Amino acid sequence: MQEARTEISTLGEFGLIDLITKHIQPTNATTVLGIGDDAAVIDPMGKHIVVSTDMLVEGVHFDMSYTPLKHLGYKSVVVNLSDIYAMMATPTQITVSIAISNRYSVQAIAELYEGITEACDHYKVDLIGGDTTTSPSGLVISITAIGEVAEDKYVQRSGAKENDLICVSGTLGAAYLGLLLLEREKQVFLETKNAQPDFGNNKHILQKLLRPEARYDIVDMLQDLNITPTSMIDVSDGLSSELLHICKASNVGCMLYEDKIPTNDEAKVSAMDFNISITTCALNGGEDYELLFTISQADYEKVKDNVFITTIGYIANASAGLKLTTRGNNIHDLVAQGWNHGKVKE
Ligand code: ADP
Ligand code: MG
Repeated sequence: MQEARTEISTLGEFGLIDLITKHIQPTNATTVLGIGDDAAVIDPMGKHIVVSTDMLVEGVHFDMSYTPLKHLGYKSVVVNLSDIYAMMATPTQITVSIAISNRYSVQAIAELYEGITEACDHYKVDLIGGDTTTSPSGLVISITAIGEVAEDKYVQRSGAKENDLICVSGTLGAAYLGLLLLEREKQVFLETKNAQPDFGNNKHILQKLLRPEARYDIVDMLQDLNITPTSMIDVSDGLSSELLHICKASNVGCMLYEDKIPTNDEAKVSAMDFNISITTCALNGGEDYELLFTISQADYEKVKDNVFITTIGYIANASAGLKLTTRGNNIHDLVAQGWNHGKVKE
């Protein structure tokens, strides 16, 4: 049965805004005034405010042929909150701006907002405004996240010092494998009549790509352990690229150990299936949304048995450059190929 489709033109811009915002109620004490006026009002309550914006463009950052709209809404919030956590700050508000083509129905936009509000509930942030406009083709989602941090407690990319340890949360490389799987099944579907996608036993890699979570638990954990990282960044473009950012901003070099890079078992099997090295996926894939940070050696005891945090190398003098020690004990230059949304070079 075909689901009902209501054209956005039947509601108009204001009708649509009303529909997607009518149930939204701010809950954070710092939100003084939310949706409905010319601007929202927030009260920093003596804290520093951190702000970050990200834009997601259909056909560049997501492919509607395999991205459920609800997941897309959730993920577009998560990628923004991840940047706030990477400052060791707590997100409190977001604004959401969308440009929609007439390919999207009222129901489709409502689904997108279901995901957006689910993420807001989960991460306890208030949706306090945005903008709605038409696009000649495709969907564009731009989100601004606002967060708070105690004065001078934010962590920058630039604080890594020689001999610091490099740590990462969770595992790396899975999201890229999720993308490979979805792209492969899309091609099969396009080339073969009546083909049913075969996603096999790949829940983890698909979840990492389509419905990632931001690591507030790691920020909490570091605070509980009384660790202030010397630098931090979130892993959106692959480990190489993020390490390059930290080393460049901190004017240091690094040594990374291939055998220490944490990966998930399902992702390893999938990498073999695709005949790609899991290390390549971790270094040059993207969208893992884990936290990469450096700590002083004095804090090593606090993380060494922690199953959520892995030490993968150390910070060296700038003159040493950025290096990777492979499993075979060879030393390579670490080159950031970056994340060109879907294309990775081996
Ligand atoms: P203005 O003309 O002043 O920009 P709008 O009519 O665009 O106002 O928006 C009305 C209210 O709805 C504002 O509070 C705005 O922040 C909010 N809003 C508009 N679009 C969105 C959206 N896509 N998501 C959340 N809030 C929105
Ligand atoms: Mg507006």
